[in-house]
Amino acid sequence: MPLRHTVDFLLYDWLKVQHLQSRARFADHSRDTFDAVLDTCERIARDKFAPFNRLVDIEEPRVEGDQVILPQATHEAYKAYAASGMLSAAQDYGVGGMQLPYTVEAAANAFFAMASVSIGSGLLTSGNANLLMAHGTDMQKQVFALNEFSGRFAGTMCLSEPQAGSSLSDITTRATPDGAGFESDPLGPRYRLKGHKMWISSGEHELSENIIHLVLAKIPDDQGQLVPGVKGISLFIVPKKLVNTDGQLTGERNDVALAGLNHKCGWRGTTNTLLNFGEGKYPVRCDSGRGLDGAGSGAVGYLVGQPGEGLQCMFHMMNEARIGVGLAATMLGFAGFYASLDYAKHRPQGRPLGAGGKDAQAPQVRIIEHADIKRMLLAQKAYCEGALALGLYCARLVDEQHTGSAEDADASRLLLEVLTPIVKSFPSEWCLEANSLAIQIHGGYGYTRDFPVEQYWRDNRLNMIHEGTHGIQGMDLLGRKVLMEEGKGVKLLGARMMATAHKAQAFPDLADNAKALTAALHKVTQATQSAWSTGQPQEALANAVPYLQAFGHLVLAWIWLDVSASCRGENSPQQTGRQAAAHYFYRYELPKIDAWLNVVGNRDMTCANLSEEAF
Ligand SMILES: Cc1cc2nc3c(=O)[nH]c(=O)nc-3n(C[C@H](O)[C@H](O)[C@H](O)COP(=O)(O)OP(=O)(O)OC[C@H]3O[C@@H](n4cnc5c(N)ncnc54)[C@H](O)[C@@H]3O)c2cc1C
Repeated sequence: MPLRHTVDFLLYDWLKVQHLQSRARFADHSRDTFDAVLDTCERIARDKFAPFNRLVDIEEPRVEGDQVILPQATHEAYKAYAASGMLSAAQDYGVGGMQLPYTVEAAANAFFAMASVSIGSGLLTSGNANLLMAHGTDMQKQVFALNEFSGRFAGTMCLSEPQAGSSLSDITTRATPDGAGFESDPLGPRYRLKGHKMWISSGEHELSENIIHLVLAKIPDDQGQLVPGVKGISLFIVPKKLVNTDGQLTGERNDVALAGLNHKCGWRGTTNTLLNFGEGKYPVRCDSGRGLDGAGSGAVGYLVGQPGEGLQCMFHMMNEARIGVGLAATMLGFAGFYASLDYAKHRPQGRPLGAGGKDAQAPQVRIIEHADIKRMLLAQKAYCEGALALGLYCARLVDEQHTGSAEDADASRLLLEVLTPIVKSFPSEWCLEANSLAIQIHGGYGYTRDFPVEQYWRDNRLNMIHEGTHGIQGMDLLGRKVLMEEGKGVKLLGARMMATAHKAQAFPDLADNAKALTAALHKVTQATQSAWSTGQPQEALANAVPYLQAFGHLVLAWIWLDVSASCRGENSPQQTGRQAAAHYFYRYELPKIDAWLNVVGNRDMTCANLSEEAF
């Protein structure tokens, strides 16, 4: 089934996004305007992204002098994406946005992720600008965010450092006030930053007039010491080139230097950089700005929000960013699924087993006729279509949180807290597995660079690592999210699952799945309680990733049942395919949770207690 058909089905038949028109914010919208956005994005993705996906993998970013060189196709894709208005799609009309529901924005971005996930860095730029719209001053919005929305400036997120990835509390980038009157700079309290930021995506390029880095750094205390923990972290705007209050470049290069490019396994169309802030390569305003530490050097940065609230500001965008990562992983899964489906329909190999064995005289069959190939195709369909449904469901919760009644908004907030680790981790793990199955279907050809599927796998392998690794997601879910507000979020989610099971029981073909969902919910609830029964975090969290996997499978089973029970369309190949994918998930996938939950519920310490010498 073509992607657009699936997207339309999920948006309109299942999630009924057209009903959002009744909300004041979306009053000018209708299915027609949503379709127009989807059409445009589908077209740009087809024309400007997809044809160059292999090119950007082969022609990796390279450094020439002070510049990072990217293929011309990347420049064209960047321009086309910015011109589409997608960078500010969800923003107010007043700032040039479309006031598009986030659900539609997320669906429209899916086309780009499938066409070429790494050619564009739009999500970083819009995430950066959206953050400034939420936490910046009016001047910061005007000068930085609005120029990012237009594509004139691009954005980054600078959190990680060589010694601080998962553990951001250990960052050592320092920010010191930039001389007397530092607080009265119209662009925001002005600081000087010194430190190293590792893994910064789109940290250097020539795609835009300027690059706006959002940087986490610590302001030293009166003794010049960095405050331990996340409480000491603040957020700064550090432009690559300094600008005035009109947003015009002043001609001064800020002291942000490219130390090197990282050479990645996949996702090679996007530069990934080690950046040095304030090392003195580009000394800036050294005579006018004298830092309180007496140095008068460092990269110029402007504080966003209050000192010490940097991580909170950064995490403002977390739900959307993690939905974005989940959807990117999902779409890479789809790309492999469609490629392997096409291959399986054309590759002749082998003969069917008849009652009397194989008939060597008979022509070979296409591999799609083999049961094992169908198994691998159906697995991909179940992972990817299920993950897309989950991603759009979560995006719909974001819209509800922003525009629903107070009660619905709060319920959506709670559900998002619990579902965010799942919407990020499930596609990262299982749509990557889908990519592996796509390679398997291609046999030896899949293992070569002459076919696209190995690139999809390499591109997708990132998603279990960035935006919080799998391990960190597991601990977030079991250590925080299921416990928060006395388990209110997880209870709410359980109630939604039970409502779906109740609805599904009315249909004979879904009754078994409804029972299986109820039983699985019970098992996850029991395992959660057993994990925490001794109150020892080391024991409870020793198997946080198996818990994440079981919880993810429970959530996907619920999503599949809800899709099956809500959309009882007439008999069509699409409907048959969806029902088969749902049944596949219940018969082949959901039973896996028993093994995962056993070690969780028993607080199994096989791994945790093993001494290093024994490995
Ligand atoms: C291609 C790419 C792009 C990126 N883009 C950006 C970007 O734009 N901006 C940015 O700021 N960062 C970016 N990152 C950084 C990314 O977010 C980090 O790589 C990630 O947070 C993990 O940090 P780390 O690499 O230091 O690994 P570590 O934190 O050292 O983790 C190594 C392993 O240890 C595990 N681990 C760590 N701590 C614990 C613990 N307490 N308990 C159990 N297990 C633990 C992890 O799960 C992981 O498996 C990017 C990374 C890559 C690879």
